[in-house]
Amino acid sequence: MRRICNYLCILATLLSSAVYGTASAATPEPLNTSHNYQTIGEHSYYLQEQAGNSLSIAQVRAAFANGRFTPSNSPVPGFGLTDKSAWLKFDVHNETNQELIRRLMLEATWLNHVDIYIFKNNRLVFKNKTGDSMPLSSRQVNNRLFTIEHAFAPGISEVYLRAQSHEPVVIPLSFYDLSSAAQLDSNRGYGYGILYGIISGLLLFNLLIYISIRQQRYLFYVLYLAMYLFMDLSYTGHGYLYFWQDAVHWQHWLPSLSISLYATSGILFALSFLKIKTLFPVIYSNTLRFCFFIIGLQILLILFNMGKTSIAISLLYVMFFSLFTFYYAIISFNKGHNDAIYYLVATLATLVGAATTVLSVLSVIPYTPLTFHAGEIAVAFDSILLSIALAEQIRRAQNEKLQAQQLARTDILTRLGNRLAFDEISEHIWNHATRNKQALCFVMLDIDKFKSINDHHGHATGDTVLKTISATLQKVVREGDVLVRWGGEEFAIMLPKTSLAQAEKLAERIRKAIETLNISTKTAAIKVTASLGVAEKNDEVNSISDLFSIADHCLYQAKQQGRNRVICVDNSTSLPDAR
Ligand code: GH3
Ligand code: MG
Ligand code: MG
Repeated sequence: MRRICNYLCILATLLSSAVYGTASAATPEPLNTSHNYQTIGEHSYYLQEQAGNSLSIAQVRAAFANGRFTPSNSPVPGFGLTDKSAWLKFDVHNETNQELIRRLMLEATWLNHVDIYIFKNNRLVFKNKTGDSMPLSSRQVNNRLFTIEHAFAPGISEVYLRAQSHEPVVIPLSFYDLSSAAQLDSNRGYGYGILYGIISGLLLFNLLIYISIRQQRYLFYVLYLAMYLFMDLSYTGHGYLYFWQDAVHWQHWLPSLSISLYATSGILFALSFLKIKTLFPVIYSNTLRFCFFIIGLQILLILFNMGKTSIAISLLYVMFFSLFTFYYAIISFNKGHNDAIYYLVATLATLVGAATTVLSVLSVIPYTPLTFHAGEIAVAFDSILLSIALAEQIRRAQNEKLQAQQLARTDILTRLGNRLAFDEISEHIWNHATRNKQALCFVMLDIDKFKSINDHHGHATGDTVLKTISATLQKVVREGDVLVRWGGEEFAIMLPKTSLAQAEKLAERIRKAIETLNISTKTAAIKVTASLGVAEKNDEVNSISDLFSIADHCLYQAKQQGRNRVICVDNSTSLPDAR
């Protein structure tokens, strides 16, 4: 991210004139070997070659002697997207009387050519050519950064560095003693280990989610994380160091390719996460067209070997990605898609992190490990936050599914369970009672002459009666009993661990409770009664449907015998065939 920020900042400078135009620079001091670590930019002078006019080292030294170099005033000299080679010149002062080995490390891993010359007493004592247009094996030090190691003799040594690239020419160069350089390598190693660990972990996690629920946004998020990793591996030099050491041609196109793929996958994820397709179909199709256009253009630029235009377009594209998806998040949020807030916070964090890194590199704010790595910390935060948002969406979808299931098992009028709920639970209760040889009874209730209540007082009053009776039943049944609306004006109660005598008592209590109800409505006070049939599970009852039939038969008997009564299986005169 930091280098993306460098790119962006260079691009911004490019668009707004020269990098060094205005500031007045102090005379650069030589680097002193007594320091463990120094950034070199502010200790150096710079010179940009004229286009098409490559200078020899002798010509460059003559140019310096003639005062054609300009003092640098930035820790990270930047020259933007340019074909012209940039030269830096600085002195290293070894105040001791013995040689001291020091490392020069250049973090702009994308530079095509980096040449270093060291002079002592006007004599060339060291020369090294590196850059990403050369295989890793040609490097003096096997490091992801362009690194040279040199034993500086006592006194002043002069160093000249030439940088040339079709990508932005920035020279974040630092000077280290060997133990500080080793310390830096190990600290950065841990830092990147944590970052890559977090990103890969989230990537795998979301990939598994995608495999199990097959929702597109998880796939796009996986793609986005993978492309971020790919881009980071390519511009930090880790990819070059570990995966494609000798693939020089590949390395040449990597920055523009990886940035474009990163931006494309980021846009695809944003479109999907922010529901742009459904909320703003026109914006959606135009954005997709734009992405296809850019990718097509990049392929053409690669085919026609136009590296500088390709990198310029990928930088503009990544800016488009940040600004436009931020805008999409705002309009999506305004349209009521609340999850867009996650995207906004994550993007804001990334922007703040990136800005902090850029400002620390430019020495506007103190340059500390925290400010320097703010961009990467923000990316980790961004990825974690978006993963939380995606996980939250799964949780919500599951809740909605549960609620839908719950609703399908509930009777809307009385809020009691319905027949579907009863069928599911009664089977468990039956099996449990069979296994444990426990008593089990079943009561069926039907309101008497309910049709005439509807006919005389209207359907709405009939509903009120049903609700009142269901409330009365709920009060009478005990915990563990299962009460449902069986259908119409019929209710059923399953009574686990209940003998026939206990069930009869309960049924009688219910009958009395209903009989004594005074249901007052707007138009009348209604009296109502109910008939109940009670069945018991015993050795002769082989299935749950037998149990229902027996209760139903008893209920029929109760109706036959004049209603408003309870009939139990053993005082039922004749039992159904099912028995
Ligand atoms: P019986 O004593 O023999 O049971 O007579 P009944 O009138 O209660 O029985 P019948 O089966 O003839 O009528 C049941 C009535 O219940 C008919 C139907 O319109 C009414 N009903 C069923 N569900 C609802 C409901 O949700 N709300 C209302 N208001 N009435 C309902
Ligand atoms: Mg009835
Ligand atoms: Mg009925």
